Amino acid sequence: MKKFEVNQGFPQFQSFLQGFNRRWFASNCEVVYLCQTTRDVEIALEEAISLYGGNVKIKSGGHCYENFVFNEETKAIIDITSLNDVGLDPQKGYYLGSGGSNWSSFTTLFNTFGKVLPSGSCYSVGLGGHISGGGYGLLSRLHGLTVDWLTGVELVVKETNSKPAHTIYVSKESTGAEQDLFWAQCGGGGGNFGVITKYFFRELPEAPAKAYISAYSFDWTDVRVQELGMLLSWFADFSRREDNWNQFGLLKLNHQSAEEINLTIQTAIDKDEVSYDLHDQSMKRLSKELRDILPHNIPRKPIIGYGAYLPYCMESNDNLYTYYEATQTLNLSGPNQYGKYKSAYMRKNFSNEDVEIIFKHLTKEPDNLALNQSLLQIDSYGGKINTFDSTATPIPQRDSIFKLQYQSYWSEEKNASVCLKWIRDFYTDIYKEYGCVPDPNHDSSSNVDGCYYNYPDSDLNDIVGLEGAMHLYFLENLDRLKSTKQQWDPNNYFNSAQSIPLQ
Ligand SMILES: Cc1cc2nc3c(=O)[nH]c(=O)nc-3n(C[C@H](O)[C@H](O)[C@H](O)COP(=O)(O)OP(=O)(O)OC[C@H]3O[C@@H](n4cnc5c(N)ncnc54)[C@H](O)[C@@H]3O)c2cc1C
Repeated sequence: MKKFEVNQGFPQFQSFLQGFNRRWFASNCEVVYLCQTTRDVEIALEEAISLYGGNVKIKSGGHCYENFVFNEETKAIIDITSLNDVGLDPQKGYYLGSGGSNWSSFTTLFNTFGKVLPSGSCYSVGLGGHISGGGYGLLSRLHGLTVDWLTGVELVVKETNSKPAHTIYVSKESTGAEQDLFWAQCGGGGGNFGVITKYFFRELPEAPAKAYISAYSFDWTDVRVQELGMLLSWFADFSRREDNWNQFGLLKLNHQSAEEINLTIQTAIDKDEVSYDLHDQSMKRLSKELRDILPHNIPRKPIIGYGAYLPYCMESNDNLYTYYEATQTLNLSGPNQYGKYKSAYMRKNFSNEDVEIIFKHLTKEPDNLALNQSLLQIDSYGGKINTFDSTATPIPQRDSIFKLQYQSYWSEEKNASVCLKWIRDFYTDIYKEYGCVPDPNHDSSSNVDGCYYNYPDSDLNDIVGLEGAMHLYFLENLDRLKSTKQQWDPNNYFNSAQSIPLQ
């Protein structure tokens, strides 16, 4: 046995078969290859494919929302978490091993180079899936998506049966089929084309010096349909503004049984923006605008879901943090639980009917206790993200102001059916006019704009079929992704319930 393989005989084996989401386990997996180098990946991939064909999966942080890595058919896992080096190559720029995590990449880029990625904040999310699927976070209105900065990718591919798995470097400067392969890594998602070993960025944004974290909590007893509508309108105005790209808001519309709605806003401040007084005044203005809609308070309960944060103040200087401290404060991934997620992009505000539907599902009481960790999270979007053309990367959604994430968590298996039904009913109800999904082709008001591939939702396959689901993620970019897949993985070795189909 090579030194980087583990199997049933090893005490740690079971732990490698489990996703962050407690729903997913690879119960029939026979071997996990713990790769330390790109050469290990080549050897492991070649061997695993010869033994198990398409039942080989790649694992970085293990945070996939669906069972794409950990399922009953999985026979071998290529675990690349040890490929986590970070550095600066004189020719190719900053590089990150794809086995790193949000937190490991943040600390090294920030401490060593004073740079940041506009990626997600949750510490444990892996770069293998996160960056290849787009990667957005609290700095994305200011700096765009992570893939908007990506300039090169090293990956191990297996094009044909006869040609051994081998490493290739593709970049912005590549041409022909290699240009397609590079483009596909900029949001076409992990688990589709090969094993990514390294990401390269010729330039990266400078780190902010400080950040305000403003946290507001609205008591559900004060909220009726009217107030909910006003809060959403305020948030739409906030998200479409052109003068606040340094701000990012997360509005957590928790189920009523959780008692509070939460809003967190991060305001990043550049090192040259010395006038903190001005920022302080603008924070106070923001707080007043919200108070005119609804009384707000300091959160009394732990905030649900990832990016959770329990602050103690809203508008004093105490909520001004050094940037490292701000990132550390907002980096929670939440506990390992069972969870289900759905997503949607929106270009405009919610209609009155939408608000009524949201209110209805958030106040529904099929089983109060089971739903106290269920929510609709609305993230402000747009800003720099919307300055890119819809075909520049595989992510076509370049004029939305909101990214929505429907979430339901449960800690006891017996609550699964209530939570799964709630989230599906909510989603299909709000998009019923467009075929029960946010399909822009069926929305004459040009509001909804598909879904985010990094928030995969296998339920979509049941509602609109695989082709329909892939259309929602990639819209006009799907054809190019399919032809790239055909070129680089014609045997469909890299597959899942929602992998890019062959042409
Ligand atoms: C707590 C939490 C917080 C999140 N926050 C954000 C956020 O703020 N912003 C955001 O954009 N997304 C966020 N996400 C979604 C996240 O970006 C995706 O779940 C992402 O795909 C996870 O990557 P991973 O490597 O951890 O997962 P994995 O389960 O390891 O991988 C996900 C997919 O990518 C494939 N893959 C993994 N590594 C490689 C590789 N090296 N080469 C090729 N394919 C690979 C896998 O096979 C799988 O199909 C969050 C998810 C969670 C659970």
